[in-house]
Amino acid sequence: MKNDLALKLHEIVHSGVKTPFYYYDTSLLERTLHAARASSDQYGFVLHYALKANSNESLLPLIRQWISGADCVSGNEVQFAFNNGFPSEGIVFAGVGKQDDEIDLALNLDIACFNCESAEEIEVIQQRAARLGRKARIALRINPGVDAKTHHYITTGLEENKFGINLWELESILDLVNSCDHIELKGLHFHIGSQITSLQPYKSLCLRINEVTTWFENRNIRLEHLNAGGGLGINYQHPDEEPIPDFNTFFSLFHRFLRLRSGQKLHFELGRSLIGQCGSLISKVLYVKKGLHTNFVILDAGMTELIRPALYQSFHKIENISSNGANLIPYDVVGPICESSDCFGKAVFLPETKRGDIIAIRSAGAYGEVMASRYNLRNLVRSVI
Ligand SMILES: *Cc1c(COP(=O)(O)O)cnc(C)c1O
Repeated sequence: MKNDLALKLHEIVHSGVKTPFYYYDTSLLERTLHAARASSDQYGFVLHYALKANSNESLLPLIRQWISGADCVSGNEVQFAFNNGFPSEGIVFAGVGKQDDEIDLALNLDIACFNCESAEEIEVIQQRAARLGRKARIALRINPGVDAKTHHYITTGLEENKFGINLWELESILDLVNSCDHIELKGLHFHIGSQITSLQPYKSLCLRINEVTTWFENRNIRLEHLNAGGGLGINYQHPDEEPIPDFNTFFSLFHRFLRLRSGQKLHFELGRSLIGQCGSLISKVLYVKKGLHTNFVILDAGMTELIRPALYQSFHKIENISSNGANLIPYDVVGPICESSDCFGKAVFLPETKRGDIIAIRSAGAYGEVMASRYNLRNLVRSVI
């Protein structure tokens, strides 16, 4: 960890802020947002922020300064994005299970687009829109059959996943859309998964999108926009070496391989790649327990504050920022929750660690605080920026 960040964290702890807490480096966040905008602007791409990655209200104003679109996956997220200043013409609503009242809310706010995932959903949106005297703009979320080669819990673009409309259903879906007078088809939506660190799946996605748009073109259907989703990964192993993802390479790949028709816009919905690296979960060592073969560092933070390791065996860099001893020892770093999966890392090499040391779990900005729970009746913890 960079020295100035470690000093800042010590300062925060010594000022009396109780651990655990989330720390967000807003300067890194701003540089990341700037980089994403600078890259995507080169090609005229439109960015949305995927609120589900982190909806901390003290970060949203900064994010909104750079990215005016919001990608939402629940009615509450739609309302929250709107309340936090995202204009309704930038809000899109995705998700396989939209409830009737969530659809009504989004219709009443006149959001930009519903990303629809099934025939039945389209029928329900048509009914609700007719009742409210509204017109719903929709995009069809297509399951492109592209393997993102990421953890199977965060892969979404395969036929066996619950997400999206399969290619063989398109003909009948199109007939349905044409029969719905309160629905306007505006675009297509794709999202193949998350924490994707190889560009190969994105290239396959581009080629598949080209095939699908040709299919629509052959039926004389003009699509105003294509939405390639999110999923760009971050470097969890080396957050200090690569604090900002390589947006240039990412966007230039789409520029190169995806064929846009004149006037057609390409949208993205980025979550993790914007917000992941700027957050850390800061915790204190409660106890060090020596075993026969394994030494445990027991933290005051657990899976209730960061569930990713327990949920998808994900790696987070763990650092003891109180000790800079050179002699590294392997520890299993665990939380206090009554679950064996409440483990942040096995055989993590740390300097000799003792009760009271401060531990930083890095790259916790995305899918950290938003997934916090009160399991074991623990308190939700605060964030510091
Ligand atoms: C989760 C999600 C995103 C954001 O994914 P990241 O991996 O955080 O970039 C974008 N679009 C949709 C539809 C999503 O469900």
